[in-house]
Amino acid sequence: MTGDRTFTQLTTCLWVTQSDLYQTNSGIFLSAGAAVLIDPGILPAASQAIAQFVHEQGAEVTTIILTHGHWDHILGPEQFPSVQVVAHTSYQEVIRDHREDLQRQVAGWETERRYQRVTPFEPPLPDKVFGENLAWPVGTLTLQLQHSPGHAPDQITVYHAPQGTLWAGDMLSELEIPFVSYNLAAYEATLAQLAQLEIRTLVPGHGTPTQDPAEISTRLREDRAYLAELRTRVTAALQAGASLNETVAACSAMRYHHPKDNTLPHRWNVESVYAELGGKCTSPHGWEQE
Ligand SMILES: [Zn+2]
Repeated sequence: MTGDRTFTQLTTCLWVTQSDLYQTNSGIFLSAGAAVLIDPGILPAASQAIAQFVHEQGAEVTTIILTHGHWDHILGPEQFPSVQVVAHTSYQEVIRDHREDLQRQVAGWETERRYQRVTPFEPPLPDKVFGENLAWPVGTLTLQLQHSPGHAPDQITVYHAPQGTLWAGDMLSELEIPFVSYNLAAYEATLAQLAQLEIRTLVPGHGTPTQDPAEISTRLREDRAYLAELRTRVTAALQAGASLNETVAACSAMRYHHPKDNTLPHRWNVESVYAELGGKCTSPHGWEQE
């Protein structure tokens, strides 16, 4: 515990701490006095607890990795003003095109938590961006950063190969179904690529990390099956000339986990896939998903 935060050690070099909002995970890779943070915190107290935790380990924060430009992942860097930020190159377009959406979403959350901000929120600018992949050091270790689009155009995953640790961004959660906020084909390709990895520790952006091999393969299998079925049903509906509402109805019998919490995200997925596959849908709700 640091303050009221719990830090769970998952491997010899990775600790995780979780927010009560959407069970959002923040990561700390530690090696030889260096710390690389992943999506560190939502409210300032969380980021400060992470900073204190790193200090107590006798380490210094060298880098913040942002997995993607959704609002609940990008509030950490303002608490670490001198630390370099690494993100995918298209993160820059995301925060430019959605600056006001992000500010509105952050303001909504902060009002709910009665947090009074002194200066307006500005999405953090990256110091280093990359295209397909990037090897990034933490002390004596090397992390593999990989572009993994689908949920978001700019999403990245972080893989520590020697220990088979995958930080999966907003994928492979036991709570959430895949949120296809960006593109189905990209999401399918990303999961196909991740399925090739040896994964011994899996950390989703939201939900429970797991080291159970059966659970890891179940999450991969179920999320890929969900996307495949979504593609099949929406394609068939479009071929039959179905409207968006008819397509939503055609996908309503699909089974997925936590159906009560995921009904709306599932509907949004149908809308965005319907639009992606050529249907007329003026306002897919993708951006509103976290
Ligand atoms: Zn997200």
